[in-house]
Amino acid sequence: MREHICIRNPEYVAGTNSKPEVGVFTQARKNQRPSPWGKISEGETVWMKWSGGPVVAKAKVSGYRQIMNCTASQLKSAVAGFALHDLDDYWSSLSNEFNALVIYLDNEEWLASPIDLVGRSYGSSWVVLPDSDSVKRWMTESKAPEKVVKDPRGLRTARPKLRFEVFRRDSYKCQYCGRAAPEYPLHVDHILPWSKGGETVIKNLVTACSECNLGKSNRPA
Ligand SMILES: [Zn+2]
Repeated sequence: MREHICIRNPEYVAGTNSKPEVGVFTQARKNQRPSPWGKISEGETVWMKWSGGPVVAKAKVSGYRQIMNCTASQLKSAVAGFALHDLDDYWSSLSNEFNALVIYLDNEEWLASPIDLVGRSYGSSWVVLPDSDSVKRWMTESKAPEKVVKDPRGLRTARPKLRFEVFRRDSYKCQYCGRAAPEYPLHVDHILPWSKGGETVIKNLVTACSECNLGKSNRPA
């Protein structure tokens, strides 16, 4: 059966500790039909992948709409009730008229452990896996060994899988002020700063919005 991989910035794959709450994905292209136009059906699986990071969640297609010569306000009304509806940055990034695909999701769930894929998406935001062979080829975990880090604190910057664990534990909310994704981009902050010996491990990491992350720079815990 056909499956899909949707690639998004981490803050667009937000939710609570118990489940993702994405609800809808849109694809828009000027003068072209965006992928997966004509290649999507209800009940198909959509894997949610971070751009430059692992697959962290999956869902089923509960419905979709293909809209030719769509306007931003038309598309906006098609996603009423979802977080995307209130993302001003997204709406202002759209051109006047485009072809749009709206993909509604249900049965959203986090993966027990995120998967680093072998395959590369080369900048595309949607990959159609037409059959079980291509699903198997794409959804294979990369066996590339993680680099050995000699520093006892670990890497200064948390790897994507660890960032995901922190975001999920914190339900995609800044733990200082409560701002939440997808409206606010989130960062992973060291509680005891790395520069003061703080380790890059989950118990020393916390979700922070840009403002709190910058404001807190190297402040002792
Ligand atoms: Zn904050």
